[in-house]
Amino acid sequence: MFAFQYRKAKTLKEATDLLAKDDEAKPLSGGMTLIPTLKARLANPTQLIDLNGLSELSGIEVKDGALVIGAASKHHQVATSKVVRDAIPALADLASHIGDPQVRNRGTLGGSVANNDPAADYPSAVLGLNAKVITNKREIAADDFFQGMFATALEPGELIVRIAFPLPKKAAYAKFPHPASGYAMAGVFVAQTAEGIRVAVTGAGPGVFRWTDAEQALAKGMNAAAIEKLTLAADDLNEDIHGTREYRAQLAKVMAARAVAALA
Ligand SMILES: Cc1cc2nc3c(=O)[nH]c(=O)nc-3n(C[C@H](O)[C@H](O)[C@H](O)COP(=O)(O)OP(=O)(O)OC[C@H]3O[C@@H](n4cnc5c(N)ncnc54)[C@H](O)[C@@H]3O)c2cc1C
Repeated sequence: MFAFQYRKAKTLKEATDLLAKDDEAKPLSGGMTLIPTLKARLANPTQLIDLNGLSELSGIEVKDGALVIGAASKHHQVATSKVVRDAIPALADLASHIGDPQVRNRGTLGGSVANNDPAADYPSAVLGLNAKVITNKREIAADDFFQGMFATALEPGELIVRIAFPLPKKAAYAKFPHPASGYAMAGVFVAQTAEGIRVAVTGAGPGVFRWTDAEQALAKGMNAAAIEKLTLAADDLNEDIHGTREYRAQLAKVMAARAVAALA
């Protein structure tokens, strides 16, 4: 690790002021991605601004037809919260399959969404449910937020404060996990939202994306057979020692059919 200063922020304003004064400073949430990155010397921030315990980033409630979750909410909290389980059980189920117990008790919603790992689970729910990412500056629609591998619409020093998930009529998530890390080799979130069917795929491509062919097919009939007739183009999908593009395309298709079957 390179040397850095550690600062524990007491308020959101203090945190954003510290970040505004120093472009090289980085916010710290659960540290489940940032600390390994520091250990590997892949990041060299001057300061770590600790966001843990900030009241403005905590809380889980249903408000104005949406499930609103504070960015500092641990995966375990989202997985076990009665409010989440009642409002969007698919989201609680997704959180319960992130990593392992240590990761679930440290990692946060805000850290995961800000990091936007191509194999992370939460981005598929944010995109699949047409959520709003609420920062200290503005509201960002899910369709505008994710911008490819580890890239988002966030500006330097901008912090995710909470995420508002509009309540769907129905939703389900199916994931084929990497055997070692638990990250998604392919994960598909399917939701019947007020604006129509949304299908979001994570793990298979360089970043989370909507499978619009599947959305159109399911709009004609919400059944797994509609998925079986489709082919997901493999050209732009990931290829590595864990699987070929074609294998990931097939996995995503199977996960989509499983999620739809779970909805029915
Ligand atoms: C062994 C292991 C297995 C894992 N398996 C999975 C898995 O199966 N599925 C999955 O989805 N994830 C998995 N993860 C990742 C895990 O979910 C992390 O918790 C998550 O990626 C980062 O969240 P964090 O709170 O730990 O963030 P940190 O590591 O603290 O931060 C991550 C990044 O986000 C920035 N940041 C943090 N909070 C904010 C905020 N509020 N606003 C703006 N920027 C912010 C940080 O500066 C940093 O750049 C795994 C991690 C490990 C170590």
